[in-house]
Parts: sequence; C-alpha cells; structure tokens
Amino acid sequence: MRFETQAIHADHVSDPATGAVTPPIQLSTTFEREPDGSYPHGYVYIRTENPNRIALERLLATLESGAEGAAEAAAFASGSAASAAVFQSLAPGDHVLAPSDVYHGTARQLRSVFAPWGLELDFVDMSDLSAVEAALRPTTRLLWVETPSNPLLKISDIAALCALAHRVGATVACDNTWATPAAQRPFELGADLVVHSTTKYLGGHSDTLGGVVIARAGDQRFTRIREIQGTLGAVLAPFDCWLTLRGARTLAYRMRGHTEHAQTVAAFLAAHPAVAAVHYPGLPSHPGHAVARRQMSLFGGMLSLQVQGGAREALAVAGAARVFTRATSLGGVESLIEHRASVEGPDSHTPQNLLRLSVGLEHPDDLIADLDQALAALSRD
Ligand SMILES: *Cc1c(COP(=O)(O)O)cnc(C)c1O
Repeated sequence: MRFETQAIHADHVSDPATGAVTPPIQLSTTFEREPDGSYPHGYVYIRTENPNRIALERLLATLESGAEGAAEAAAFASGSAASAAVFQSLAPGDHVLAPSDVYHGTARQLRSVFAPWGLELDFVDMSDLSAVEAALRPTTRLLWVETPSNPLLKISDIAALCALAHRVGATVACDNTWATPAAQRPFELGADLVVHSTTKYLGGHSDTLGGVVIARAGDQRFTRIREIQGTLGAVLAPFDCWLTLRGARTLAYRMRGHTEHAQTVAAFLAAHPAVAAVHYPGLPSHPGHAVARRQMSLFGGMLSLQVQGGAREALAVAGAARVFTRATSLGGVESLIEHRASVEGPDSHTPQNLLRLSVGLEHPDDLIADLDQALAALSRD
C-alpha cells in the first residue's frame, strides 16, 4: 500500500462490538482478568497499554518506516517528553552531540535537566560536516539531528551525519517534526530513531499535544525507551491519541497543500523590496536546496523572513497581519506568524528582524494579500 492509503487503512478495523467505522475512545483505566488470571485482550492497565494509544503507535510506525519495513513507536504526552525519553535512555557520562540551532526546548532540557544528570553535551552546526566530525568523541552515544532547523530552515545531510555517527557507534535520532514522514524518511537515510512533536503537523489542527519516538523493529535502545514510557508514565491520553490518529489520516494531503502554499509565499516574499532575506529550502537560492532536494520529497510548510530593519519593523509587520494569526507553534491548518526572538527570550541567537511563518491551508492568494498589506506597514511609518 502507498503512503496515502496506509494513513487511512493501517490498522483500521470497524469496531467489532458495534460496527462503528471510526474507533471508539477507550477511557477505561483497567481491564478485566479471566478467572484463571489471564488477560484475554492483552490489556492490563492504562499506563502500560490502551487501545487508542496502540492504534496510534502502529499507524505512526507504519507511516515513518517507508521502504524500511517493520518499525515500532512509543507515544508520549508531548514532543518534549518523547525527546526526554531518548535522553533518559543514555547513561551519565555519555556524550550527546546536538545542533547549535536545535529546537530551543530541546536545548533547554539538555542544559537544565540532562547536563546536571551527567550527560556531556556539545552543540555544533550540523550543516557543517567537518565541524560534526571534529566534535564526535569515542564516548558520543547520541547524535541529535533536526532538519529543516528552527527558525533558519538550515538543512543538514541526514545520510552523511549517520555515516559519521555510526563510525563511533553513536545512535542517530532525527527530530522529524517539521518535515513529517510525508516529506522525509530518516530511516531510509540511516537514522536509528525518529522523534516527533505530534502537536504540529501529525495532529495538524492545533488542538492536541503529543509526541512519539519511532525505531526499527528490534532496536535495543527502543526497548529501553518503551520501558521508560511505561515506568515513568508520560503517556499520551486516549482522547489525544484519537485526535492525533484522526489528524494523521490526512497528513499526505495537508503536507502537499502546506508545501505548495509555502513555495508560493516564499517566491512572493523573495521579490518584495521590504524583505531582506527569505529562508525556505524550496528556493533554489537556499544554501541547503541541493541536499533538501535529495532527502525531502516536499519542502514543507515552514519558512522565515527577515524584514528590512530590526525588531521594531518585524513586530510592526506581525502586528498588521490579519489572516496570519500571531501565535507560536506550527503545523495547523491556520497560518501563524511569530517574532521568534521575543518567544525565545534574552538568550536567543535568532535575528531580531526575523519572522517565522507556519503557512496554512487558506487560499494562497489571501495569504499573499495579507503579507503584502502587512509589509506595507513598513512604508507607512
Ligand atoms: C514543538 C517542537 C518540539 C516540542 O514538542 P512539544 O509537543 O511542544 O513538547 C520539539 N521539536 C520540534 C522541532 C518542535 O517544533
């Protein structure tokens, strides 16, 4: 089956009790034993297994595995909890190499929780392979990759990074939140683990928080991650599993729309005199375009622009937007605009004149008209 069909049919069976075509939400925290003590349905207690969570995990494993065959997934209460489970699978003294522009929440948990817990950390520019090679140590146990990156949309070469990391025996985890399996399959490029914040494109409607870690079937580290999921208990609740599964069914079509609209918006912005720079891997002028073409089948719905001026000008443009909503996060059907430096706070390295766009599924003409009138705010003052 192809990706679109898998997204709709993988593990889809009508409810045997009622014939309902969509799955029921199973809220029960506990499941009945037979007189002989067995659990005939395989469910014991909600923290370790729940029907909605198992259905979601199976679907996400199927979508991410692509041509690589069987995979397993563990769903967590957030993308952050999913990332944390990967770090918790390491031991104190292990070295972690992460991108210098890794998602700021991931950098924060590494520095404020996992450094005191004993992980050794280094942050490097992952688009620079010689810098990565120089930073790898014999004790490097994990290379964390995130591409495209946030918010500069830098592209790093997943296959080349995997080759470097595997030489020292490190696991490669790829945060595939921005690209999604509809656009990029890290397992096919050699990655060992794939992590998602399902809060973004997989859920797709800005109404449910969640995360997932996916591995090839039989992966040793995943066995530990599954144990962490059940014993530490940062699991995804049944209703959130149900919403995320519903969202994931339409992922392929949403990602095509997001990409088509982002490409159109990027081309419009690149030609606008009030725009100093546009960062979108689908533009041939983007420094990562060639690698992106090789490892992505779609360039995705995220882009950043730098306006002429500084923070004041960027905030004025965001302030004048009418169709784009001023909000953080990404991956929903609605377009969002955000001044990243304000959200990231005083330790942010993001340029002050940068605005990040999550390009939604509204008509692209309306999105362009909105940005055009908002950018006109710069010539008004
Ligand atoms: C949002 C995000 C996360 C964190 O996910 P939460 O669900 O908010 O905890 C991690 N990585 C990336 C790339 C993200 O965009």
